[in-house]
Amino acid sequence: MKKSPYHTDPNGRLLLHCPRCREELTVLDVENYPACPFCDWRFPADDNLEAFILDPIVRNWVARVSDPANNR
Ligand SMILES: [Zn+2]
Repeated sequence: MKKSPYHTDPNGRLLLHCPRCREELTVLDVENYPACPFCDWRFPADDNLEAFILDPIVRNWVARVSDPANNR
């Protein structure tokens, strides 16, 4: 099985561990840079990267629609 560079921290936040320099990259890093700001490793533009970037948006959306105050 291929080892995934994506990890979840104790708060449920997704992190991308750069496979080259092992730095922890957040969604903001990936949004702002086309490659790792520490070692210039290019992020692979695949479904995982897309899910990684969309994760906070999806979480906000789920929190909003599952809030009973908004559910009428
Ligand atoms: Zn790196």
